Amino acid sequence: MTNLIISNICNANCDFCFASSFLHERENHSKQKFMSFDEIRSYVHLFDQADIHDIRLLGGEPTLHPAFDEIIAFAKANSKHITIFTNGCLSEIALAALENLSPDECAIIMNMNAKISQEQIRTREKTLIRLGDKVISGYTITQPVFSLDSLIQTILDYNLQRIVRLGLSLPIFSKKNKALHPKQFPVAGHCLAQQSFTAFQYGIQIEPDCGFVRCMFSEDDFQILKKHDFHYVSCCSPVIDICSEGHFLHCFALSEKFYEKYHESMGIHEIRENLIERTNPWQISGIYPECGTCLYKRSGECCGGCLSMILNRFHPIGNSGN
Ligand code: SF4
Ligand code: SF4
Repeated sequence: MTNLIISNICNANCDFCFASSFLHERENHSKQKFMSFDEIRSYVHLFDQADIHDIRLLGGEPTLHPAFDEIIAFAKANSKHITIFTNGCLSEIALAALENLSPDECAIIMNMNAKISQEQIRTREKTLIRLGDKVISGYTITQPVFSLDSLIQTILDYNLQRIVRLGLSLPIFSKKNKALHPKQFPVAGHCLAQQSFTAFQYGIQIEPDCGFVRCMFSEDDFQILKKHDFHYVSCCSPVIDICSEGHFLHCFALSEKFYEKYHESMGIHEIRENLIERTNPWQISGIYPECGTCLYKRSGECCGGCLSMILNRFHPIGNSGN
């Protein structure tokens, strides 16, 4: 999987935003607010060479790109599947561009706890009505105790796909952003097990994103989640986010430390391998001191958690550790 960061700006204001510090720096230092169409074309060509058939558009808010409709038409003409990561506040042009695509051609992953205004909530409702069957709800856990009730109601009301893509608010290495603390994970794990009863009742599957760890679930909670179709994975590996200055990032959380400058002689797989090799020494460790002797880690059931948290353990904020 590879994401194109086509917009360096956003019209929401989420305090847990992974991309915020990266994008603000871009806004301040660079005049380029959007990835150019030429760049997008050349990366799609690169995807062809790597046999990648999904074009994943990310921001900031990707639908703010002035040529958004043309990008969608271009991806469709090249028989690509399209995935959009959005806060749901879509313009009429963006809506029209996506409306005629089938759920097989396009997935819209919508950040359902985006911080948006009342007016934007009304705009998002319009999006949900018109694009509902293509929408997968994204939810970020920002507090150890949380409720998925209103999200589940929205999924039912607008007939969205019966999936919740669940993320943890994770730290950006060497930056201050709102993130869960590893000490809060077990409470969040227990709360998730409780929330899974209602989700399961309505046939809604909860899919975890990166950064989950095995010990955040007690044995009882783990069995409850299993019974409710929660497909536990513990992973931290580069998806690759490509930004408008030709930097290939491991992920936003590590954008300060682990990225490769694009060069024509390199393919995406090679860049990914380089990043994995560079991060490998850190993966030996984990987010807690006890990870070093953990049987879950040894057996591969847990990756040890988010690398950005691990780096923050060893290099507290203010020391980027380069
Ligand atoms: S460091 Fe790993 S777990 Fe953390 S955000 Fe990046 S890919 Fe995900
Ligand atoms: S490796 Fe660390 S985070 Fe993972 S289960 Fe073991 S102690 Fe928990």
